[in-house]
Amino acid sequence: MASALQPQSKDSLSRFKLKRTLDLLASKEGRGTELITLYVPPDRQIHEVMSQLREEAGTATNIKSRTTRKNVLDAIEKTMQRLKLFKRPPPNGLVIFCGAIPQNGPGTERMETYVLEPPEPIRVYLYRCDNRFHTEPLLEILREKDTFGIILIDGNDAVVATLRGRRADIVKEMTSGIPGKHRAGGQSARRFERLREAEVNQYYTRVGNHANEILGQIQDLKGLIVAGPGPSKYDFEQGEYLNYELKKKIAATVDISYVGEQGLDEVLEKTPEILRGVRFLEEKRIVQRFLYEVGHDTGLASYGESEVRKALESGLASTLLLSEKLNMTHVTVRCRLCDFKEDRLLSPHEVPKLEIDLGSTQCEKCNNPTLVVEKKDLLDELVEIAEAKGVDIEMISAETEEGQQLLKGFGGIAAILRYAKTG
Ligand SMILES: [Zn+2]
Repeated sequence: MASALQPQSKDSLSRFKLKRTLDLLASKEGRGTELITLYVPPDRQIHEVMSQLREEAGTATNIKSRTTRKNVLDAIEKTMQRLKLFKRPPPNGLVIFCGAIPQNGPGTERMETYVLEPPEPIRVYLYRCDNRFHTEPLLEILREKDTFGIILIDGNDAVVATLRGRRADIVKEMTSGIPGKHRAGGQSARRFERLREAEVNQYYTRVGNHANEILGQIQDLKGLIVAGPGPSKYDFEQGEYLNYELKKKIAATVDISYVGEQGLDEVLEKTPEILRGVRFLEEKRIVQRFLYEVGHDTGLASYGESEVRKALESGLASTLLLSEKLNMTHVTVRCRLCDFKEDRLLSPHEVPKLEIDLGSTQCEKCNNPTLVVEKKDLLDELVEIAEAKGVDIEMISAETEEGQQLLKGFGGIAAILRYAKTG
């Protein structure tokens, strides 16, 4: 089923960035129960939170292990220092992760503090002291952005519902009122079928009208999920019951066992897959557009690090496509004495060796052992240029065939241009 969802443009980037940070935070482990997680929703008073932290610090003085006690108290102290910088929470609230993280085995802990402003308002207030950081509520936000419409339908019942994040609300429930498949005595089979068809048609029309009205009011409806246990869902979505706008937003047709609350739960269970599927369709479409420009030699495609960098800097690029799997470091080797400069693209694991090697390498221009290294994550660097130039950025996963093609065939870096290059 084709889906005609709006491209997410910068959205995929902010999500990717947040997700990358959260992955990093989730991978960190404390020596003991000594990592602080603090979620402050926008309507919380800072001084209330401060006083709770003071209480937590009081409780922490009872911790038996001397090291753990010290680490917890330090972390609470640091958290309070950061919190004090705010008169009130930012519009979307505030999340602080703070704690002593072993850098290289036990005894090498270093205090790390992360202050995040979520991309959407957080609703929970949460204080946790654990051996890990609690990133789940923020991960939830990543999923919560989009509103979907859901229509559950079978021959007897129909439900129109909305889905935002993991919250589903039933807006309208209907029954077909169509009697069972047994005809009354004396009725001809053909007449019975005709009547029945008319009734089914009326029922679908009624469901369609309600769906059009309810879902049509939702701004930025991301997509529509049609679900049901039998063939009704297909008859309904293929017929002329939904208006054109809604029809082209159908993102998935899902098999479930029941209509009603239980059916809605089934859809919810499947939404992560469905939403991933929706994004994959978008990604496929974006990459296919790029491949079309390459294949037809329109001059509107650019790929490879240096070409794309040029296209970005000159303002020629309109959309930047980056593979999420792009993991390269842009290394610049410079001489401190002369103007020697060399750019290299390396895998991050190759960088330490280069740094060691350069310690005993002479500058090829002035022969002094004065080479230094500057490094930057290539993805971050390209994103920065693109943001500065107002270019749409699409992060493309490697989970579709097209995503693999972008990664393997084009080094994970490509751009669609505003107009064809001349000369
Ligand atoms: Zn030199």
